[in-house]
Amino acid sequence: MKKKVVSMMLCAAMTAAVLAGCGSSTQTATDDAASAGTEEAADAAEDAAAEEETADAAEAETEETAGGTLVMGTNAEFPPYEFYEGQEVVGIDAEMAAAVAEKLGMELKIEDMAFDSLIPALSSGKIDIVAAGMTVTEDRLEFVNFSDTYATGIQAIIVPEGSEIASADDLAGKTIGVQQGTTGDIFATDIEGATIERYAKGMEAVQSLSQGKIDAVIIDNEPANVFVSEVEGLQILDEAFAVEDYAVAVAKDNEELLDQVNAALAELKEDGTLQAIVDKYITAE
Ligand code: GLN
Repeated sequence: MKKKVVSMMLCAAMTAAVLAGCGSSTQTATDDAASAGTEEAADAAEDAAAEEETADAAEAETEETAGGTLVMGTNAEFPPYEFYEGQEVVGIDAEMAAAVAEKLGMELKIEDMAFDSLIPALSSGKIDIVAAGMTVTEDRLEFVNFSDTYATGIQAIIVPEGSEIASADDLAGKTIGVQQGTTGDIFATDIEGATIERYAKGMEAVQSLSQGKIDAVIIDNEPANVFVSEVEGLQILDEAFAVEDYAVAVAKDNEELLDQVNAALAELKEDGTLQAIVDKYITAE
């Protein structure tokens, strides 16, 4: 079985924006008002309250640009992009996001959750970015913004060795395992007469396949390579589904962070950091 190497999208370098923010505060207004003790105190307090609001807004903005924590949501069941090494989530996305956070002068924190919880978590502000081998799709673009792409994924088909399924066309009417909420799930759902078994983890679908409970699994090629190397008797078909772009997702209302992520990614592509991270986790055969 040939191992496909994710080809990096080495886009033209963007000019790096100024990443560090400025840290100003008008917090003292409140103190002034509190200590005024005159007739104007009420007015001053009102002004202070208004100014404090502005200060809070400025602070919130500053937190994203200088210092603070960048919270990345992921589903750490997707090697080599994200997986556990002991207690720690490692992989291409984890290292890329850490490098982006560093460029932003922030510290990266990783929240591991179900894949289909990632976009809701982004929208509710629980996390700042999604880095989860997430494919850019029109549907998702209705809810989130995507950064420039940083990798390519291919939807692969895994079958038992010697399976009668030799191409995507043979999947009609079969029982197909997928990871819930992924593009593999979406593709499988469109296959005529197919029964879809949805799993929380891609590896669970692959185990089910090896136990003969399902006929095939549709999943991204790199995790497919890892899973098939760990489970006996399975193979990846040469014919694959769509080629997809992976990107970092950011909440719709956070254009500023999107610009910063894009600027950081451009630098990481330009200086070879991104390629070095990919090479660390994906070895061409
Ligand atoms: N690339 C697929 C998607 O975006 C799967 C990602 C994943 O399972 N982490 O739906």
